[in-house]
Amino acid sequence: MKFFIKTYGCQMNVNDSEKMGHILEKRGFSAADNENDADIVIINSCAVREKPQEKIFSFAGRLGKGKKIIVAGCVAQSEKEKILERNPSINYIVGTHQYYHIDRIVDEILAEKSRGDHPVKAQFSKVWQEAVPDIGARISRVSGYISIMEGCDNFCSYCIVPFTRGREKHRPFENIMAEAEYLAAAGYKEIILLGQNVNCWGDREKNMKFTVLLDRLAAAPAVDVKWIRFITSYPGYYDDELIDVMARHEKIARNIHFPAQSGSTRVLMKMNRIYSRDQYLEIVRRFKKRIPDITFSSDFIVGFPGETENDFGLTLSLLEKVEYENIFSFVYSPRRFTSAFKLKDDIDPGVKKQRLYRVQELQKNIQLKNNKLLIGKTIDVLVTGLHPKVEGEVIGRTVNYRVVNFESDTPVGEFTRVLIERVGPYSLRGVEKR
Ligand code: SF4
Repeated sequence: MKFFIKTYGCQMNVNDSEKMGHILEKRGFSAADNENDADIVIINSCAVREKPQEKIFSFAGRLGKGKKIIVAGCVAQSEKEKILERNPSINYIVGTHQYYHIDRIVDEILAEKSRGDHPVKAQFSKVWQEAVPDIGARISRVSGYISIMEGCDNFCSYCIVPFTRGREKHRPFENIMAEAEYLAAAGYKEIILLGQNVNCWGDREKNMKFTVLLDRLAAAPAVDVKWIRFITSYPGYYDDELIDVMARHEKIARNIHFPAQSGSTRVLMKMNRIYSRDQYLEIVRRFKKRIPDITFSSDFIVGFPGETENDFGLTLSLLEKVEYENIFSFVYSPRRFTSAFKLKDDIDPGVKKQRLYRVQELQKNIQLKNNKLLIGKTIDVLVTGLHPKVEGEVIGRTVNYRVVNFESDTPVGEFTRVLIERVGPYSLRGVEKR
């Protein structure tokens, strides 16, 4: 019996899929290469915007007859029975805290009991649920994901996450260290700490906070990786201690995902973010002063209800001031359950689209300008994969998470040095210098 997991959304979803794959393989099922070869298809869904949410229905609609279909993840959690009403060929709904029972759920489906019972499991758990995917169940042999917390207590007014992932649950310190050591022993070159609000992590029993965790991971001889990254963090909880820890350990990669969402304090307050534009810029300033080679990436929402041209101009000017390494930008999409859902979605769709275009064009120029500064420099690159279209070429990443393409026979997972010769806004091109 074969299964296939189609994953939409963020790294947390990817890691959840790895965990589900691990659980199913332990139960004796094997992973199929694609949905056509699978008997059981799990769609791990993303609810963060409306468009990805809709993708589950088009994907499920394209599946051939006779397959057992499970919808898991954030849409499963928020929409539950509604999904079954809309597509009766879906067999089971598994929320974000229930996929640990995916083996039992598949057994139930195969025993054809699911439709007779209640085929929805979406209760929130109050405690952290431990699951560590085997190496074989992970999508990468180079960069290993480690979930350290789940959920969010911030309730930003536009965000559905507290309703799909529940309140914050933090993973115990020993379990995180054990997974980091496991990945390092397996030859992973970087670890990526995951959580919706990662810098809020704490082990209350041990009175430990995120900065202590980072410090211990970076100092541990058994966590012998080259880079440690963390996503996603919340700007309102940054402090000088985090800057100190990062400055002390070169192993902590010099790129932070630091989601601003808007450059206007007025909009930030309406979004229920707890920092102002000035506070955000002050943290960036302190980071850059202490760690000059640090770079930032960010998320932005344009067209939030009530966003004026002036507010939007402040977002553009924030981009110019911070000079982000890259950004993820989206037009505002009202999400049910959130407090902003009650606000009038009053920005004309054409204006939203235009603002998105302006943000992305500006960012493209910033990236191109900064990438040009690397021409003629030789930099460390981690080979992350073979080029899918060009034989003899590989793709790599720099410490700042820039993409580099070059000809090489250096194996995936190894570091090399690359002289940068040409650049575009989204990638660099060079020759290997071993
Ligand atoms: S901090 Fe992030 S995950 Fe939490 S509510 Fe805000 S946007 Fe959503």
